[in-house]
Amino acid sequence: MKKVLIIGAGGVGGVVAHKCAQLTNTFGEIYLASRTVSKCDAIAESVKERTGVSITTHQVDADDVPALVALIQALKPDLLINVALPYQDLTIMDACLATGVHYLDTANYEPKDVAKFEYHWQWDYQERFEKAGICALLGSGFDPGVTNVFTRYIEKHYLDEVHTLDIVDVNGGDHGKHFATNFNPEINIREVTAECRHWENGEFVETAPMSEKQSFSCPEGVGEYSIYRMYHEELESLSKHIPTLKKAQFWMSFSDNYLKHLEVLSNIGMTSIEPVEHEGQSIIPLQFLKSVLPNPGDLGESTQGRTCIGCFVRGIKDGEPKSYYIYNICDHEQCFSEVGSQAVSYTTGVPAMIGAKLMSEEAWLKPGVWNIEQFDPDPFMEDLNVHGLPWKVLDVTNRECDFFS
Ligand code: NDP
Repeated sequence: MKKVLIIGAGGVGGVVAHKCAQLTNTFGEIYLASRTVSKCDAIAESVKERTGVSITTHQVDADDVPALVALIQALKPDLLINVALPYQDLTIMDACLATGVHYLDTANYEPKDVAKFEYHWQWDYQERFEKAGICALLGSGFDPGVTNVFTRYIEKHYLDEVHTLDIVDVNGGDHGKHFATNFNPEINIREVTAECRHWENGEFVETAPMSEKQSFSCPEGVGEYSIYRMYHEELESLSKHIPTLKKAQFWMSFSDNYLKHLEVLSNIGMTSIEPVEHEGQSIIPLQFLKSVLPNPGDLGESTQGRTCIGCFVRGIKDGEPKSYYIYNICDHEQCFSEVGSQAVSYTTGVPAMIGAKLMSEEAWLKPGVWNIEQFDPDPFMEDLNVHGLPWKVLDVTNRECDFFS
């Protein structure tokens, strides 16, 4: 049984804490630390009520490496799950290096002052983690995370070579608010308003944000949605680790209402990350916007509907072209009744727990810094079925569908 320290008491941190507490044979002790300790306490209370497991709570500023090191030295965890914000990835990795603790996250590092998320900052830790004999598992959420594992699984079991990939993320849920984001608003809006990039013939091709749109019909009656092409970080690691990929794109659903609000907010400068003077104080408009928007962690109670996230993976098998669609559907209300959160936090928190479980069991543990598709997909795929995110594979080789690559 391993001791695990979770950092970040937001929507995702709440799910990770509940799911780890369901596995007392794997996680012997659970610690939860965040900037605001009262949020950790509220999660700990819910975990106790739902599972009977006690977790201890701690205050920490994860931008502060000495404070993190002191906390880790006091608690002596075997593994740290980082579900704070992407801004904290490097400081938390530094603290893991200083203390010899394994590391896992769900989103790649992003500097606060530039809306640019890239892996090279974290890949640069490869040699130091290897020398220290500790493992960093990067991107163990849903996308990135499950989508990377889905792609690797299709490559391993269904194809000889993967040639094209379309990741499609549909949130068919309704939270009943005029405007809200499904995860941290600041990170979400930075991601959605960024230039679009997709992988094609050995390089990234840049296009204007939201300039490519398709209609997508989800399986199992989830519905028909408009999906927009955008950049997502798994495209960077997958195009590196699956060198046969000729084209890779990421698509996400947005309602007209969401896009209209976002357009107005952008037009009036509210999504900017440039500091402005306000009554003698310097403030960042996007951070101010985050404080007035609904907290994604509180949306669970009002959210209905289902998410449908999957990958269209095309390639060749025995010289013949083949196409597969592999996907999961997750129900917002079922997630709420199990762990008190909506499905976007749930679909991120469950894979984080599974990644930590596989590291704890040493099924996935080797010194260095690894993206999730660099490990064997099979044990992770089995655990998805057991721990709340069942998946299906469809052979779509002979189906007509314009947008796949
Ligand atoms: P939230 O904003 O709900 O939670 C973030 C938590 O981190 C908050 O509790 C916040 O504290 C805490 N935090 C922020 N800064 C610090 C700091 N300096 N020190 C300590 N704690 C800090 O975000 P989510 O739970 O929605 O998202 C968590 C992570 O999951 C993000 O990195 C996000 O990008 C990632 N994610 C990944 C997905 C995937 O599929 N791979 C999908 C969705 C999210 P406070 O409450 O005090 O602000």
